[in-house]
Amino acid sequence: MMLDTLQRGFDAAQTWLFETVVQPVIYQMGWMAHLEDAYSATEWFLLGAAQVVILFLLLRPLEARFPAERWADRGGTGVDVIYTLLHRLGLFPLAAFVILTPLFDQAAQGLRALDFTPFALDAVWPGVTDIPLVSFLLYLVVLDLLDYWLHRGQHGLRWWWALHALHHSQRKMSFWTDDRNHLLDDVIVDLVKAAVALAIGVEPGQFVALVIAARVLQSLQHANLAWSFGPLGRVFVSPLFHRRHHAIGFGHEGSRAGCNFAVLLPVWDVLFKTADYRPAVEPTGIRDQLPGPAGSGRDYGDGFWSQQWLGLKRLARAEIP
Ligand SMILES: [Zn+2]
Ligand SMILES: [Zn+2]
Repeated sequence: MMLDTLQRGFDAAQTWLFETVVQPVIYQMGWMAHLEDAYSATEWFLLGAAQVVILFLLLRPLEARFPAERWADRGGTGVDVIYTLLHRLGLFPLAAFVILTPLFDQAAQGLRALDFTPFALDAVWPGVTDIPLVSFLLYLVVLDLLDYWLHRGQHGLRWWWALHALHHSQRKMSFWTDDRNHLLDDVIVDLVKAAVALAIGVEPGQFVALVIAARVLQSLQHANLAWSFGPLGRVFVSPLFHRRHHAIGFGHEGSRAGCNFAVLLPVWDVLFKTADYRPAVEPTGIRDQLPGPAGSGRDYGDGFWSQQWLGLKRLARAEIP
């Protein structure tokens, strides 16, 4: 009953936004061929907005009540809000998917002409893997394994770390920090993920659901909460587990260039020997941000544009392996 009401409210909001804002712009610009895409984009935008509001209402009071770290003020956390809005209201991963879809369709058509059937992971065991829930979970696990290795690359490759360091430069980590990334880093990661998703047969609608499911948990992981999730922390990445990935001296150091790289499922860290379940809460950031002699007092920028610019400068100086 309540879900019905919510659904109706959501549909009404989508129709209203589409008819009063999106459609007039589309007609004005002469983009009528993209009317259907624009309608889906409106839905994506509203889902993102609903997600941000819910996360804020849930996590902001929890951070105030049970902080992992006590800060004198929240100065410096505001820039992360910009990143979050840009991502959750923006069309980043969807754009990658939309751009790649026609390319893959063409490739698939070419293969069919040669009597090849395009690959779909959920078709490997008919009657089982094509059950919607099973197929959803299957793709979730496979894409999460991909995320783990992309994240290892972000720490292990010098040029990639030059960009990813921006994510780690937040010394007051909160639930807004998840999307704090270099835009170029986002483009690379999203294109690779979308390409792999298409190659293993993920449908566009399914992709949106997968991204949304992952994002909610990722915001929670960055929250300023020392929660381990108890036994469930062995199944899902908890705020405490991910906080150690951001800890100075642990998250980006050692023989494997860090620990706790998993995005949703910590089993990858256990399997590949990068898990660190120690519960102590350590300061977050990057060692070279510290004043000497521990670090060099490196500046990663306070505002959005300075962070982006400094990231490009680091990239230009990093050796390409
Ligand atoms: Zn990282
Ligand atoms: Zn993080």
